[in-house]
Amino acid sequence: MNPNPLVLGGTTEATALCLALSEAGLRGTISFAGRVSRPVRQPLPQRVGGFGGVEGLLRYLKDHHISHVIDATHPFAAEMSANAVLACAEADVPLIALSRAPWCAGPGDKWTHVPDIAGAVAALDRPASRVMLAVGRMHLAEFAPNLQHFYLLRLIDAPDAALPFPSCQIVQDRGPFTTSGDLALMQAHRIELVVSKNSGGAGAFAKLAAARQLGLPVIMIDRPAQPARRAAQTPREVLDWLNHSGTARGV
Ligand code: NAP
Repeated sequence: MNPNPLVLGGTTEATALCLALSEAGLRGTISFAGRVSRPVRQPLPQRVGGFGGVEGLLRYLKDHHISHVIDATHPFAAEMSANAVLACAEADVPLIALSRAPWCAGPGDKWTHVPDIAGAVAALDRPASRVMLAVGRMHLAEFAPNLQHFYLLRLIDAPDAALPFPSCQIVQDRGPFTTSGDLALMQAHRIELVVSKNSGGAGAFAKLAAARQLGLPVIMIDRPAQPARRAAQTPREVLDWLNHSGTARGV
């Protein structure tokens, strides 16, 4: 029987997977949380919005006769990933994560690791500095305790509400970014410190390469823990799993 996979998306990897599925003549649906106003166009049908927790996802899997789930969400989308593990186990639908390796510090990098957003906020309790705050739109309000800094924010969409920062600049842009572009951006704003999630992947690494070239310190937010699940690194591996071995559960 032809598989009918659900791809949990919102990443470059999910888009690449949808292209691979479509080119292989497979059907499927990609799901977005609905965080950005204009999601990247997809070669597969898409749905937008939360499912309504584990129960809602379970219902969706059953109602739409989903045969497989591919969790290609961002490594920091821990709630969606946890819900997928629980709903798939309950529905007996095979699940695989399409994940990207975390970034590792190399020669010349000056990274300080913090475990989460709260850790980054605490690490910013220091004298005023010019900070590139690359944590996405959803977590900006949490940085309100440190209003002494200038913040450079690069966002896909403008914030829905006024930001708490007295000194900040918003640059609206969507990756992938280049090292030369990020070097120019950081120099133009005289950035002294970068705060980044450890997202992994190629498209968002440019700011870290630029920070290395400029000798800038980086506060690196480590990834949240994810539940044990089967994982693939490439769309090809996911296609093989769908075609040959996607009927057994496990990690
Ligand atoms: P999250 O905290 O794990 O998810 C919160 C809730 O949003 C989930 O419980 C679910 O609602 C809904 N949701 C998340 N991803 C969804 C998807 N692909 N399809 C349908 N509903 C989804 O996730 P998040 O950190 O807010 O990220 C939201 C989306 O943005 C994800 O798709 C992720 O891939 C993408 N993204 C996140 C980051 C990041 O840094 N977190 C960066 C880039 C892209 P219900 O419980 O109602 O189902």
